[in-house]
Amino acid sequence: MSAPDSVALTKALLAFDTINPPGRERDCARYTGGLLHEWGFKVDYFEYAEGRTSVVARAGGSDAKAPLCFTGHLDIVPLGTRKWSRDPFSGETDGDRLFGRGTSDMKAGIAAILLAARNTAKQLNGRPGIVLVLTAAEEGGCIGSQHLARTALLGKAGAMIVGEPTSNYPYAGHKGSLKFYAKFRGVSAHGSLPELGVNAIYKAAKAVGALEKFDFAVKKHPVMGAPTMNVGTFEGGQGVNMVPDEATVGVDIRTVAGMDHAELLSRLKKTLGGETEVSVFSDMNAVWTEPQNEWVQRVFEIAGRHLGARPEPKAQTYNTDAGNLLRVYKGAPTVILGPGEAAQAHQTDEYVSMDRIRQSVAIYEELIRDWCGA
Ligand SMILES: [Zn+2]
Repeated sequence: MSAPDSVALTKALLAFDTINPPGRERDCARYTGGLLHEWGFKVDYFEYAEGRTSVVARAGGSDAKAPLCFTGHLDIVPLGTRKWSRDPFSGETDGDRLFGRGTSDMKAGIAAILLAARNTAKQLNGRPGIVLVLTAAEEGGCIGSQHLARTALLGKAGAMIVGEPTSNYPYAGHKGSLKFYAKFRGVSAHGSLPELGVNAIYKAAKAVGALEKFDFAVKKHPVMGAPTMNVGTFEGGQGVNMVPDEATVGVDIRTVAGMDHAELLSRLKKTLGGETEVSVFSDMNAVWTEPQNEWVQRVFEIAGRHLGARPEPKAQTYNTDAGNLLRVYKGAPTVILGPGEAAQAHQTDEYVSMDRIRQSVAIYEELIRDWCGA
């Protein structure tokens, strides 16, 4: 299949079961890499663990200007507990809708990136070119891109398009996240003699009270608004007749552009008390490009023409790999723009509009030609 259309290619990608966990992106990664190789791209693979394969592919390149990056993830979320009325992997259609797990989030986006790359590949010689970063393990923590960003494979990029679901509306960024567990320790004793112990639940409860009143001390972001905090879990104690010697709370903070996570974390640790053991399990920076940026204005113009209205600056609520990739592609203006519907992500009977996939290919192609002067 060397010349598939966008719907056929999305269906081909759907057929790979890349449900994460466990992920198993390798076959899907090899398939996309094989196509790109056939179309003249230089393809590299990277596995941070057995079978967890990411793809980096590039075409064109010049000293004058860095390439345009397109990124998307190959893994998908589990099917959930509700029964599907459509087959999640075979690519059933109904009218304009193509059903399946990962249609919107985001194999349609991957298909659109691949086809725009194929359609422009021959014109990229001696031009700034493009680099495609197709990641493993985005769902549940952006682990694949975190590892990839530590390698030399990413090279350079002058701007970035994240193909996550936006119904092709260009978003200028998204919030960041800082998630951690805070563990409180006490001393166990018999429930009838609590004065002999130290109650870890009391410690944790006081800390939760302090977190509820925590002042982020940042101005509202004009588009993202204010940062938020949610204490999502509270665990502790082994029996009602015992003084608990351990309690743990799980905290989910969503940050806005401009916040320094390291500084925030040190203030939070002070709030929680010096003895508290804090273990961070997700640390993703917010992504934001000022909408006045020249390239973002070009994206707004090009996407606006296809959408029939000029976009307004907006930010997404979900995280993407961009937070990790921007550690390498420092300062690259970034937009999130892809064919999936954000509301369909992670839903039972997930679908994508087939017209949107075709529209996405057209927008991506125009953005490539615009960037490369081709
Ligand atoms: Zn996604």
